[in-house]
Amino acid sequence: SPLVGNLIGENHVNYVLMYNMLTGIRIAVSRCQAKIRRPLTDEDFTARHKYSFDIIGNELTPSAKYDFKFKDYAPFVFRELREDSFQLDPADYLLSLTAKYILSELGSPGKSGSFFYFSRDYRFIIKTIHHSEHKYLRSILKDYYRHVKENPHTLLSRFYGLHRVKLPHGRKIHFVIMNNLFPAHKDIHETYDLKGSTVGRLYPEDKAQQTPRAVLKDLNWINRNKSLELGPEKRALLTEQLRRDSEFLKKLWVMDYSLLVGIHNMQRGNRDNVRRNTLKVFSPSVPPIRRKPAKSYGSSPEAMAMRRAMRESDLKRLGLDTLQLPEEDTGDRQHFIFYQDEGGLQATDEQNESMDTIYYLGVIDILTPYSTFKKLEHFWKGLSADRHKISPVPPTEYADRFFSFMKSIMRGGGGAARFKSE
Ligand code: ATP
Ligand code: CA
Ligand code: CA
Repeated sequence: SPLVGNLIGENHVNYVLMYNMLTGIRIAVSRCQAKIRRPLTDEDFTARHKYSFDIIGNELTPSAKYDFKFKDYAPFVFRELREDSFQLDPADYLLSLTAKYILSELGSPGKSGSFFYFSRDYRFIIKTIHHSEHKYLRSILKDYYRHVKENPHTLLSRFYGLHRVKLPHGRKIHFVIMNNLFPAHKDIHETYDLKGSTVGRLYPEDKAQQTPRAVLKDLNWINRNKSLELGPEKRALLTEQLRRDSEFLKKLWVMDYSLLVGIHNMQRGNRDNVRRNTLKVFSPSVPPIRRKPAKSYGSSPEAMAMRRAMRESDLKRLGLDTLQLPEEDTGDRQHFIFYQDEGGLQATDEQNESMDTIYYLGVIDILTPYSTFKKLEHFWKGLSADRHKISPVPPTEYADRFFSFMKSIMRGGGGAARFKSE
């Protein structure tokens, strides 16, 4: 399940990578944040800033435990997205991600080979992405930026940063930082990854019974007769936003994205407490980054930001001083219609009265252009006898099918059963 991971201690195979990612983020993001804000230019969208880390350190980069190179892409654009569009507090962002150099790793849940890491407080996800996805995000960054500006309530993945770590032997790891749709303070009782396609979209039900945190798919949704319980008001809002978002994805000519649905049952509450227990089991002690003496930073804005980042009171405020997860909503999502009820969208009846369920919804995995998908398909075709069944439909059809499926799963939407006979 997305909410349970293994904390990465020093002996973990990916410790060095994690350390490098977080060190790079900390330095690059605080440098960018120390600069004076100005209107974005075209160059900001293609900009990349290079950092070189080593154990000695220099004016630009403090000493680090390992040698590596770091690239920060379009830092000003992402800063504006974070601060203006996604309403993140700049200091909180850095603290949540890098305060203690601990992430938990989900491994590779999809077949793409991407790895997922959660920040300690579970607010942020680092997803390693393929070079092609990286290039693709850079190429559409302006469109994405514009869409987010015009659609403050978009359900699309919120990208907070795009970076690359290069290890001494030359290996390059690209990654994005994005929102965790699921909140740290609520158990998720059921998870669905819905595409609007039914072919091969079944998680075995017998296995699902034993794995309550499994990510279920379209056919599970249909077979279990589920629907999104939303009254007329929320239904109309969600439909309209999904329509705009899928139109946008159609224009981008991408495929294979899904609507991720997490369901919290308020009657059940947090009784299961799975995440909290898991987190308490692991308690690696990770030494802090080796730093130059504070005086060598002087009193530049960056230096101040760095020192601020280390203040224990801040860590306490954010619940980062212990391995406990916050018990309450962190508050930053309250500006957004679909994330304003405990970080999600509370179910309502036909009179728009609240019901006992909270949905956590978002459109994820949006960086696969059709051309890449065709290549993947070619690969799968070679492996499967049922190849005609997995033939991708072009982005226009994909988006239309996606949107009508999502309309159909809302209460009164007629149900998604008819999609079975596609
Ligand atoms: P594939 O291409 O094979 O589908 P992928 O590596 O691109 O896999 P995603 O589809 O992005 O991975 O995500 C895989 C799973 O990780 C999702 O089904 C979901 O359970 C979890 N996940 C991804 N993004 C988020 C998010 N923003 N918030 C919470 N969970 C997420
Ligand atoms: Ca996916
Ligand atoms: Ca993918």
